Amino acid sequence: MHSVTPPRDKKRVLVFDTTLRDGEQAPGFSMSPEDKVTMAKALCELGVDVIEAGFAAASPGDAEAVRRVAGEVEGPVFCSLSRASEEDIRTAYGALQSAPKRRIHIFLSTSPIHRAAKLNMSAKEVLDCAVRSVTFARTLFDDVEFSAEDAIRTEREFLGDVMEAVAEAGATTLNIPDTVGYSTPQEIGEIFAEVARRVERFPDAVISAHCHNDLGMAVANTLSAVANGARQVEVAVNGIGERAGNCALEEVVMALKTRSDLFGVHTGVDTTKLVQTSRLLSALTRSPVVRNKAIVGINAFAHEAGIHQQPMRSCAPKMWALLAHDWCSANTPVATPSHSVRNLWAIV
Ligand SMILES: [Zn+2]
Repeated sequence: MHSVTPPRDKKRVLVFDTTLRDGEQAPGFSMSPEDKVTMAKALCELGVDVIEAGFAAASPGDAEAVRRVAGEVEGPVFCSLSRASEEDIRTAYGALQSAPKRRIHIFLSTSPIHRAAKLNMSAKEVLDCAVRSVTFARTLFDDVEFSAEDAIRTEREFLGDVMEAVAEAGATTLNIPDTVGYSTPQEIGEIFAEVARRVERFPDAVISAHCHNDLGMAVANTLSAVANGARQVEVAVNGIGERAGNCALEEVVMALKTRSDLFGVHTGVDTTKLVQTSRLLSALTRSPVVRNKAIVGINAFAHEAGIHQQPMRSCAPKMWALLAHDWCSANTPVATPSHSVRNLWAIV
């Protein structure tokens, strides 16, 4: 069994962009179908591997948006979110018909709190439903992602049982979401390492991270997941998404690139296009990023203190790690400050 985007290169991290689904569903970030097509074209140029175009079964409008994006943009894999039901899976399949490369992304809660309060299902019923939905999805899709919603608060043994069972049933991507943005880098690293051991006998299955930023650790947690075996990261441009948002695409991609000495992996993203993609999203959603936002904020490479300006002018690539990379030419590096002191560099 093969994914449409198999990680033949074990050092390649797939970038799954959910700006148009998890990002767009957050208040203040809604986009028209035309805006979604514009954004999807930019994401395609940026070089993401998978675009989650929406949640087709959520409403006829969502299905139409998925249909338009998948039909008008070429390149990456297009994906629709889906509950673990045949009806949802069929709706997603219908909406993705025109995409040459398509994926279904099935989610089902696995944590005890969600099993009791949201699903009213036992652990055994959840496991059976997960397997049943993946088995059915494989009759329509070659590329099936399964997400154990609220995975981080799921008993580790049970999470491993579910991931092993859905991999056996044909899931090609195994997503472990920190749905409530609750984990820490150390904890999530342990969870990913444990799941990776449980699914070792499915070497083609890609383990994926989906982290929310409620405690400000979505990027750190995603990086820890990568260090412990994740080969897909689920991200959104500017980190938009539910509540405090998703893992920011630009931050995790630049962290992996800048610290390739630590992570030893790479993505397919063209980092010279990060700033323009960020600004396009801001324009479409009328939501500018804060000035000091890492990587894409207009102050991200501006120095007000003279102590930093002088070395920036004289030997920027050596002094400033990120400037050694080519991507930031679109971001202004030096501000005109009120706090500058000439040549402070000389006394440091
Ligand atoms: Zn999410």
